[in-house]
Amino acid sequence: MPNIAKQIEAVRSRIRDAERRFGRPRGAVRLLAVSKTRPAADIRAAHREGLRCFAESYLQEALEKIEALADLDVEWHFIGPIQSNKTRLIARHFSWVHSVDRLKVARRLDEQRPADLGPLNLCLQVNISGEPSKSGSSVEALAELATQVANFPRLRLRGLMAIPARTPHFATQRASFRTLRLALEGLNSTGLALDTLSMGMSEDLEAAIAEGATLVRVGTAIFGVRPKKPGMVSSVVPDEAT
Ligand SMILES: *Cc1c(COP(=O)(O)O)cnc(C)c1O
Repeated sequence: MPNIAKQIEAVRSRIRDAERRFGRPRGAVRLLAVSKTRPAADIRAAHREGLRCFAESYLQEALEKIEALADLDVEWHFIGPIQSNKTRLIARHFSWVHSVDRLKVARRLDEQRPADLGPLNLCLQVNISGEPSKSGSSVEALAELATQVANFPRLRLRGLMAIPARTPHFATQRASFRTLRLALEGLNSTGLALDTLSMGMSEDLEAAIAEGATLVRVGTAIFGVRPKKPGMVSSVVPDEAT
């Protein structure tokens, strides 16, 4: 358990160093702790170290932790693939969703966001490496999707998210993140006012910060290597409205 405190401190100092090294203002980058597969006790430990933003990828698991931790002030972010029959619970229990890549899902989140909660913060996920197997909108389809999503009253379009193909090469990491930054700048030049680049994880957060990340999503470097979740990896649920 004391490990978590030490690891959070190490991640914070990596973020500060990268901010300094790449000319970013101090505090420009928010740390989002990715707690998927981790027990509620680990989130409590991280919360004691001052973290407030936690991200989950699997809805059922997330809901259990959200309930178990209802006594804490946590801002919950959803970062996993979204089946459209799960949107109602996501719209109700999260403050942010980073993984929206199609209009149908955005429309449902908008319709299902409870009126008393305020708008749901949203990032569009972009498939920057163009791998057909990955989720995310293509860069080409992004402008039209963003324009439509920006008009939904119960959503607040904040920016873009990407999970580039893994590579140990800093220059290659940076090139992927630069593509996402340029896509955001392109959208803002058409009149949108997006303020969030959700990019960078345990292994590549420095490259992301160099290219303008405003929020890094860090799991392993805080909580350690994730246990394999039997049944999670291959679960396929039909994507249909309920
Ligand atoms: C799991 C996950 C992360 C965290 O990855 P680490 O390499 O453990 O830091 C970040 N973003 C998304 C979308 C994830 O699914």
